[in-house]
Amino acid sequence: MGWFGGGKDKTAAPKAALAADLQDEKQRSQIILNAIDDGVTLIAPDGTIQMFNPAAVAITGWPAEEATGLQWQNVFKLVNEKNEEYPDQKNPFIQVFNSPEPFRDNDAFLSTRGNKQIPISLSLTPLTDPQGNHTAVVAIFRDVTKERQEEKQRADFISTASHEMRTPVAAIEGYLALAMNNKVATIDSRAMSYLEKAHTSTQHLGRLFQDLLTSAKAEDGRLTSHPVAVEIGAFLESLAGDLKFSAEKKGLQMEFVLGSSDTIDATNTRNVVKPLYYTKVDPDRLREVVTNIFDNGVKYTDTGKVTLGMTGDDKVVQIYVKDTGPGIPAEDIGHLFQKFYRVDNSATRTIGGTGLGLFICRKIVELYGGRIWAESEVGKGSSFFINLPRITTAQAQELQKQESAQTSVESLQAAAASVVQ
Ligand code: ADP
Repeated sequence: MGWFGGGKDKTAAPKAALAADLQDEKQRSQIILNAIDDGVTLIAPDGTIQMFNPAAVAITGWPAEEATGLQWQNVFKLVNEKNEEYPDQKNPFIQVFNSPEPFRDNDAFLSTRGNKQIPISLSLTPLTDPQGNHTAVVAIFRDVTKERQEEKQRADFISTASHEMRTPVAAIEGYLALAMNNKVATIDSRAMSYLEKAHTSTQHLGRLFQDLLTSAKAEDGRLTSHPVAVEIGAFLESLAGDLKFSAEKKGLQMEFVLGSSDTIDATNTRNVVKPLYYTKVDPDRLREVVTNIFDNGVKYTDTGKVTLGMTGDDKVVQIYVKDTGPGIPAEDIGHLFQKFYRVDNSATRTIGGTGLGLFICRKIVELYGGRIWAESEVGKGSSFFINLPRITTAQAQELQKQESAQTSVESLQAAAASVVQ
């Protein structure tokens, strides 16, 4: 008999060691899962919850022994900020079971067991076997209440500060304008050149505060918006005059293209029925967006042309602005719509700007379920596109009827209130 005893013992020892190792491994994983602050859960392909760590218990309010074995729908009730249930096509839990890709959602709210809505950051990763079949889904989620509160405080601070600072800046701008007006003040030409510079900087500061205020509002959903049915052809036509003026002031040509050439017969417009492209937006907000993009085209283009146009199909209305300016490098294109992003080149360093315009444009376009993006080739110019969901003429007329009914109710209420007073 050897030192280890009989043959049976010889295999038993490594087996025991392996079992101990596995046990160790499991314990280590368990310790980690128990210690982390993020909720971690494992969901089987049949939708049942297989594992629920203590942080998941603390966030959802579901005890682990109750949650385990339940279908995920019972525990993970996702709602949006208006407390509306997520539709299936937006629900990342449903999406992830049909996809090899992981899903993230930072805007969801989780309705807890006690029916409390808490903001969460959620990440879902599908686990697949070599054949690509789902073997499980790992969900990791975090309560972001504190982060949201801090974000809100920051945004409140920015909007209060920019609101308060706009007033004195407007006063300075006004006094500078008075000082520069030769009907009310007498100054020499040197002082005038200083004042002109001060006036330009003050205007820039005023615009910066205005943009900061708008972007803070856009971020926390306080941007006022009264969406109505708008026919984009007529809308752009009425805007084109002002835009043409700003282009021509800089010596640039302005072109306005309504629809593709096969939809509009320029020689015989009276006999051709122009298609009506309706969408549901706040016209003041959309005007801000189009003006901003067009003004950028003018601002960054030295010679040539800025084109404003519209096209579309049965689902989409597309507005575009194209210029013959310097273009935008490919590596910057993806960042243009981020806050404070400015392309760092000699042109932008000399041309003033806040880097907030396109960020605000994106926020506004997204408010109406639209998309905004840019395409460009350096040296050849840039094109900006806005896609908005198209509504039918019948839907637009229905909306207009509701709007006018609402307006008459409001004017009746106002009239009644004035009689009572
Ligand atoms: P800004 O106030 O700097 O113009 P925007 O957010 O409107 O801020 O634009 C972000 C950046 O995108 C600009 O600083 C500029 O570098 C680039 N950009 C925007 N429009 C154009 C354009 N038509 N041609 C070239 N560059 C552009």
